[in-house]
Amino acid sequence: MNYDRLAELLFPHITETPADIEAKFPPRNLPEGAKVTRFAPSPTGFVHFGGLFPSTVGERLAHQSGGVFYLRIEDTDAKREVEGAAEGLIKTLAKYGINFDEGAILDENGNISDKGAYGPYKQSQRGPIYQTFAKQLVREGKAYPCFTTEEELDELQAVNKKEEIKNTDWQAEAEARRAEMLARRSFTMEEVEEHLAQGHPFVVRILANGDPEKKTKFTDLVKGTLEIPENDEDFVLLKSDGIPTYHFAHAVDDHLMGTTHVIRGEEWLPSLAKHIQLFSALGFRLPKYMHIAQIMKLDENGNKKKLSKRDMGANMDDYTRMGYCPEAVCEYIMTLLNSNYEEWHMQNADKPYTDFPFNIKKMSVSGCLFDFSKINDVSKNVISRMSAEDVTKKVTDWALEFDPEFGAELAADPEFAQKIFAIGRGGKKPRKDLATWVDAKGYMGFFYDKFFEIIDTYPETFDKADIIATLEKFAAGYDYADDMNTWFDKVKAIADELGFASDMKAYKADPTAFKGSVADISMFIRVAVTGKQNAPDLYTVMQILGKDKTLERINKMIVSLS
Ligand code: GLU
Repeated sequence: MNYDRLAELLFPHITETPADIEAKFPPRNLPEGAKVTRFAPSPTGFVHFGGLFPSTVGERLAHQSGGVFYLRIEDTDAKREVEGAAEGLIKTLAKYGINFDEGAILDENGNISDKGAYGPYKQSQRGPIYQTFAKQLVREGKAYPCFTTEEELDELQAVNKKEEIKNTDWQAEAEARRAEMLARRSFTMEEVEEHLAQGHPFVVRILANGDPEKKTKFTDLVKGTLEIPENDEDFVLLKSDGIPTYHFAHAVDDHLMGTTHVIRGEEWLPSLAKHIQLFSALGFRLPKYMHIAQIMKLDENGNKKKLSKRDMGANMDDYTRMGYCPEAVCEYIMTLLNSNYEEWHMQNADKPYTDFPFNIKKMSVSGCLFDFSKINDVSKNVISRMSAEDVTKKVTDWALEFDPEFGAELAADPEFAQKIFAIGRGGKKPRKDLATWVDAKGYMGFFYDKFFEIIDTYPETFDKADIIATLEKFAAGYDYADDMNTWFDKVKAIADELGFASDMKAYKADPTAFKGSVADISMFIRVAVTGKQNAPDLYTVMQILGKDKTLERINKMIVSLS
């Protein structure tokens, strides 16, 4: 077979050579040890939590080493593409600190364009590049055209599937498939010419000469040493529209774009044999690989299962609606990614997670478990360390979008809101009331008449007359100008007057000697003023609410109890 002629017949429009292309993608000029990584999503939907995971690894490894992190849009499957998904991906990733040095970016009109010298970064725009390398492989006798149409192939596969069910003679079947594949390999130049003259579509297949019995050792930086069998499947490189399959695009793009570390989901592990063969056929140096374990969750029966697209917590856009701040999500991801992150973080509480020396060796080999209670814990810590000003702004922005009534109240008087969020903030042991912005209303909504309601009732064990007497005495003696100690002395005095212990030690020594303690007296007042048994420091609450509102609420409670 004259392969040169075959290549010309198949790709008459390709005039460049691989060398011409290589010249346009020169090696990157980076310091020793700098890593080049990429995130390569297919624009088929939203950003999945399981996608943010490898992209965080890529971002950290590149930026930690002074390398480059880029975004490539893998839109080779037009059937699965979702309109606007690529734009959405870029926006969502930016929200989570996944900032790309180059690649597909959004321009000022919101359209995707390229930044960087290794583009185009959308695979659908790189057709001639792939075809140039495919032509070369055909020229070298390493790839060949296959005129079986997609419909015919689908049919073949359907038959094979049926056979699989009936046929338990695996060896016979494997042989039949092998024979079918080998049959595809033999054709004459005349047949090819005839097909082309008829305008028949063709795919380009690799000629796989591997022996699956032969295994080579391969080191994945996450999974460790693996035994990879040689590939013997003539898989498709170019589809009939000249667009590559994932395998071919991966090899060509990651080579030309200078990727040093391919970080991707472990679902690609079974394809590794193909990729190893392909890189070798193309004469490309194999990049390093990191196959990241899938994110798992516990199902209702306590069994581990993959966090699927439809699961709560999968869609990153849901986190915005649920009121999670991106800082918390990023930190949670770090705790999942590196087992020593939490320890580091405890010792470096003031530092951003980007200061953490991320270490590939500390990554989990098997699936990490996604857990809302853990993310809530992390989030409470993150929010507790934010400034009151920051929290006020973030809660207000969130509420204006997702709870406009609440948002309007906050936005009407930002200073008032900030005073509230300042309670218990800034010290060594800050309050940890908020895991999400959704929690804000329940925590501090009572400051606003619109949301104030009596949520907790008084425990039946207390005498109503004592509650009323407490409220009356407190109202009569309340002075806004009192400092905290004076204020509390007055509360203690009420306790003494009504037979409640003002001294907690005395109370603990003999609870039966009292009706209760000063803690109960405070609770009587707290429920009247905040509607809840659990609320931030009552003295400060009153200072923020003001004298009139405080007394109005106490008096209302007296009326409702009387
Ligand atoms: N487009 C592939 C995916 O979304 C990318 C895998 C890779 O990173 O190589 O799964």
